[in-house]
Amino acid sequence: TQPAKIRNFCIIAHIDHGKSTLADRMLQITGIVDDRSMRAQYLDRMDIERERGITIKSQAVRMPWEVEGQTYALNMIDTPGHVDFTYEVSRSLAACEGAILLVDAAQGIEAQTLANLYLAMENDLTIIPVLNKIDLPAADPEKYAKELADLIGGKPEDVLRVSGKTGMGVAELLDLVVEKIPAPTGDADAPARAMIFDSVYDAYRGVITYVRVIDGMLKPRQRIQMMSTKATHELIEIGVSSPEPIPSQGLGVGEVGYLITGVKDVRQSKVGDTVTDFAKPASQALPGYTDPKAMVFSGLYPIDGSDYPVLREALDKLKLSDASLNYEPETSVALGFGFRCGFLGLLHLEIITERLEREFGLDLIATAPSVPYEVTTEDKKTVTVTNPSEYPTGKITRVSEPLVRAGILTPKDYVGTIMELCQSRRGNLLGMEYFGEDRVEMKYEIPLGEIVFDFFDHLKSRTQGYASLDYEEAGEQDSDLVKVDILLQGEQVDAFSAIVHKDKAYAYGLMMTERLKKLIPRQQFEVPIQAAIGARIIARETISAIRKDVLAKCYGGDITRKRKLLEKQKEGKKRMKMVGRVEVPQEAFIAALQGD
Ligand code: GDP
Ligand code: MG
Repeated sequence: TQPAKIRNFCIIAHIDHGKSTLADRMLQITGIVDDRSMRAQYLDRMDIERERGITIKSQAVRMPWEVEGQTYALNMIDTPGHVDFTYEVSRSLAACEGAILLVDAAQGIEAQTLANLYLAMENDLTIIPVLNKIDLPAADPEKYAKELADLIGGKPEDVLRVSGKTGMGVAELLDLVVEKIPAPTGDADAPARAMIFDSVYDAYRGVITYVRVIDGMLKPRQRIQMMSTKATHELIEIGVSSPEPIPSQGLGVGEVGYLITGVKDVRQSKVGDTVTDFAKPASQALPGYTDPKAMVFSGLYPIDGSDYPVLREALDKLKLSDASLNYEPETSVALGFGFRCGFLGLLHLEIITERLEREFGLDLIATAPSVPYEVTTEDKKTVTVTNPSEYPTGKITRVSEPLVRAGILTPKDYVGTIMELCQSRRGNLLGMEYFGEDRVEMKYEIPLGEIVFDFFDHLKSRTQGYASLDYEEAGEQDSDLVKVDILLQGEQVDAFSAIVHKDKAYAYGLMMTERLKKLIPRQQFEVPIQAAIGARIIARETISAIRKDVLAKCYGGDITRKRKLLEKQKEGKKRMKMVGRVEVPQEAFIAALQGD
């Protein structure tokens, strides 16, 4: 297809504003999926995507669309809307010339609407503002058309109104895509350059890499090179998804499609990397490649220790399709053998744990999420600490923690309660901006460690679910942080150590000692439970001793009953963990980590 007849666009929106549903209607209206094979969220292929109704991996499809007797090829890229996957969104945007900015006509602009819009503007995309769900009785298109027009400039009348559910306005929207979004440009005679915006693992075909060709041409059997790693591969197949894969004779300037090289690991096809011709390579890679960074760490342990090999294998498998997942083995006194895993964010952690449990039948316990701290010791060595129990001992001269810039969009009535929440999390208000009559965007700089735990839940409950949150990395800051340890009879319980701000250390110590006192059964001797910073005890509870004799009740007579009791006690012992002399049921550790 000639570049003049191509339009590359994506749909950007806050989560649940209807991207996937609108994409479904487009597939139907352009005739590439017939009514019989249609199912909701057609492009969301993973089970977990369907069940949660969220898009995790981007997808690209090519659709024919006729305007005034001319047939155009529309390449639509459906992007994930959640903060954790911003990197994927930004790569998808870089593959397009335009974006449909979709806003729920009953909700208006939300935090991720803004975050995605800013990303699209940074990529110089042509923006088409659209109100969705106008079939809803609660829709208020007048109000929100004005809000959108105020945000991006233009007139409220120019904001298109559609319903992804009924299909109303969708044909007009596709006409507008052809009319407004510029055709791609590039140099057809230059050495081939194509940007990888997605790569997925397929059990049968290996890695499928989605690319957007910028210059030159890619053809089947050509030898290609990945510019960041210099790895070379032969193109076994090249084609377009429409929405099923259709092999083609090549992809030229402006085209979007897939490549198959037979590699088995997505790390060999990195999102953001540039593909070039091995025989005639381009001299310069396309801009924008960065390695996604793990921001949240957690230890994952099988509840049944014998599942450890299954967990290892499951992680190896997931890694094939998710380059942003990383892990290494770790052991814990309390939880046994497991893995310390790094995630892009909390949703990513949740999704991976859920996939491990669901797809591999594992029962897992995850330790409290932690962020990477830079810790400098007296001898001027700096280490990155992702597991609190590996915090260096001895004198610490400096600790720095990651910061994020958070945007919270909320009805203005909740400004007070949000300020209170953010202050309690050491947030620093950077500014506020009003949208329309009643909505405010509050910008905060806030330590990531303060929001990974339960910030989002608190935000939602304080605002009856109305506030939305988006955040991006914003460097690091030095802080007064300390490690709090929890000791049972003087022995440290690694899984409970936490790195917290000095002012919050006491509260953490108190909470954990009280919680453990309730959970750990009495022993034959007294067990002190302490919270400590280094050698200094900051909180203490005591479990008093009992004499436990399970046979006392059996009056000597019934031997089989006695034996049964002893066996039962042995069973129980298997699930006990020893911390020094103290026996603790594993359930107690799990309950303490989960909180209330
Ligand atoms: P995404 O997260 O942006 O991909 O949103 P989805 O397409 O998954 O839609 C979120 C929810 O809104 C689903 O329950 C959809 O059925 C519903 N929805 C999407 N579009 C419309 C629409 O035009 N009208 C109505 N009434 N509901 C819609
Ligand atoms: Mg979706």
